[in-house]
Amino acid sequence: MEKTYNTIKSQVDLLNQGNVELAKNDIEVSKLLNREIERQHKTLSLVASCCTVSPSILYAMSSTLVNVTAEGKPGKRYHAGCEFVDEIEQLAIDRACEIFKAQYAGVQPHSASNANYQVLSAILNPGDTILGMSLDDGGHLTHGSKVTFSGSYYNAIGYHVNDQGIINYDEVDALAKKHKPKLIICGATAYSQVVDFKKFREIADSIDAILMADISHIAGLVITGRHPSPIDYAHITTTCTHKQLAGPRGGLILSGNDADNIVPGKNITFRKLLQKSIFPWMQGAPAVNNIAAKAVTFEYAKSKEFYDYIGKIREVADTMTNLLIEKGYNIIGNSTKNHTILVKLPESITGIIAEEALEECSIIINKNRVPGEQRSSTITSGLRIGTGGLAQRHFDKKGCSKIVDIISAILTNIKILDEKNYELKDEIRVKYKNEVSSLCDEYPIKNYCEKN
Ligand SMILES: *Cc1c(COP(=O)(O)O)cnc(C)c1O
Repeated sequence: MEKTYNTIKSQVDLLNQGNVELAKNDIEVSKLLNREIERQHKTLSLVASCCTVSPSILYAMSSTLVNVTAEGKPGKRYHAGCEFVDEIEQLAIDRACEIFKAQYAGVQPHSASNANYQVLSAILNPGDTILGMSLDDGGHLTHGSKVTFSGSYYNAIGYHVNDQGIINYDEVDALAKKHKPKLIICGATAYSQVVDFKKFREIADSIDAILMADISHIAGLVITGRHPSPIDYAHITTTCTHKQLAGPRGGLILSGNDADNIVPGKNITFRKLLQKSIFPWMQGAPAVNNIAAKAVTFEYAKSKEFYDYIGKIREVADTMTNLLIEKGYNIIGNSTKNHTILVKLPESITGIIAEEALEECSIIINKNRVPGEQRSSTITSGLRIGTGGLAQRHFDKKGCSKIVDIISAILTNIKILDEKNYELKDEIRVKYKNEVSSLCDEYPIKNYCEKN
């Protein structure tokens, strides 16, 4: 029987019909979608940016809001038909301001990279100097790496971490005084210590620079008071919504005390400039379905369940760190203050070999550069472990201990041939793949971010 859109009144009916039709009409994609679900259940993700979204988030993302074109902002659109999306976007904005204690929130950026480029391109002119954390030391690509827009359109200077893996604030201060950047960027993608936003602001103020904090990795810790908040220290804060917040893929731009101050050198407030930097400067119509999912994400972020989830992330991080140290692994900084554990591997094992050998046994971890790295970014000498995925599986000490045993057993059983090649015996691979598979069954993914 032919169904028309008009006869389908509810979102649920639509999604169910979509499921049936996809399986019928596009077997290839449908099969791959199902295999991916199985992969996610049957592998252990120790990827620092990992999270599994709740069914409510998935549902909001797959809603018919995707059909609406809504350039502009709530109450001021370039398109008709926006009465409900206006309310949805306003909810997302209000909730973002509430959970981050911010004065301004832009919820339209499609990703955190987009959000960063919106800020950079609105504040700076091509050729201006920026100061950000070097990629090798844990900074993000968008903070000035030469292979990106941020490092080729601007004169990007990088600061570093010391031997303990802590940001060298004396160097940041000296580089700021020497190069007089217009914008300083703080925040990282592979950093296990606390970022001193207050100190960054002092350095920025001493040279009249603007400070941007990118908290993509630690947004949950910030919201729940487990990491200092940059909102009133940085002029502008950016984050993604799909890492610690366990929301849809997307970006967020925030501003606190400085929201209604004039941007130095420009005749406009931060609030107005940031708004324009998204649309019309860099983006067209927003993904309203993702904005609805962001609203849902921000509501969960107020809940006790979310608070407990972020607490669990910290608990698992400390447990894993101690277990790895007991096994003799070299942990950068000997500790973690967030969800990230940076491992410097034994000299003979490169990051790429460890990553590939572990993946063969269903443990998903990223290779990572380490401070003072001598190898290229495709090889590296370290691993970056994150505990969001294990927290969502409610891992306890016993489970953590099992993973560390398995990781250690795999890494000691590989035969290293050179920097990229190794041999892992079939029987070893099968043995540990099975052990990881049982661990996955013993600790299934649970929904921390769904209210009980
Ligand atoms: C992951 C990350 C980003 C990029 O996020 P996308 O939404 O994938 O573009 C930006 N900054 C930092 C610090 C990150 O860790």
